Amino acid sequence: MSRSRLDPIRVMLGAEPSKTLPVSEAAQGIHVLKRQSTKQLSAQREALHSGFRNSHKWRNRRWAVLLAVNLLFVLSFRLDIQILEGSLTASRFLGFHLADLNSALQVMLAHKHIIVNLVIGTVTVFMLWLVLGGRTFCSWVCPYHLLSELAEIVHLALASRKLVSDQTFHRGLRTVCWVVFAVLAIVTGYTVFESISPTGILSRALIYGPGLALLWVLGLLLFEVVVSRRAWCRYVCPIGVTYGVAGILSPVSVVYRLENCFHEGDCKKVCLVPHALAMVVKGRATEATMAVGPDCTRCGMCVDVCPSGALSFGVKGLHRLL
Ligand code: SF4
Ligand code: SF4
Repeated sequence: MSRSRLDPIRVMLGAEPSKTLPVSEAAQGIHVLKRQSTKQLSAQREALHSGFRNSHKWRNRRWAVLLAVNLLFVLSFRLDIQILEGSLTASRFLGFHLADLNSALQVMLAHKHIIVNLVIGTVTVFMLWLVLGGRTFCSWVCPYHLLSELAEIVHLALASRKLVSDQTFHRGLRTVCWVVFAVLAIVTGYTVFESISPTGILSRALIYGPGLALLWVLGLLLFEVVVSRRAWCRYVCPIGVTYGVAGILSPVSVVYRLENCFHEGDCKKVCLVPHALAMVVKGRATEATMAVGPDCTRCGMCVDVCPSGALSFGVKGLHRLL
């Protein structure tokens, strides 16, 4: 695999984006043009900005889907309508077995043998998220994502008044956590991560009723408000890594167009994984059109805030999709 293709994977696992990747002729041409014709660029930027309205379009769609999926779990259990049975960890949709990729992996590691229903569920879910975009699970389905987005709004409001500041950690910590939880499953024969995963705790609490484990989730949210913005998803949760791997192969992604970008960086400010948007930094894009890195959750926040339409949902190698 070429260095250009490998770099986004290295970055997802915790490395810094490389500054010495080969740049295509088309991208070089645009970089040169941007350095030379400042007057023309200002006019182009003004024309693009004039039609921009920050609408939260993708965020609203995403929240609606996330609430609908989780509500379907609740209604299926409470009304016994058997459409989506179980919880996010393992479920059945109209009789088809589904399983969260990470949980299924942990269960198989813990039991040290292949469980047929789990394999069927895992393969089905892998194919589904492969088509839908890998970490799309995080921002379109995971209930903790929604709560941590709300906690982030509180964090940013407090930070703007200088009441809190964001403590950052090394992103490679999440990859280390993935390995640690896998080893713990093998050694203990118990899915240790499942007992502390806010995704599973919240899903079960919504469906079967609240329990003491919710105090742990509250503690995490408080930590994110006061100490470190989006800390669980950024530095710990192994589910993000597992779905990120599906995202490497997924055709659906956010697509970046160098020509439309004026490097203002609004996208990186709202992004959970700003390292996936390394190409928006001036002079860094290696192609005129390129997919955002596989760690991207396809949340659409960057698409909503980009004032010049440089980011949009698309299919890798094809034209604009949405
Ligand atoms: S990283 Fe984990 S907790 Fe965060 S949104 Fe993804 S699955 Fe949910
Ligand atoms: S790159 Fe855009 S779509 Fe992907 S996670 Fe960041 S803000 Fe969301």
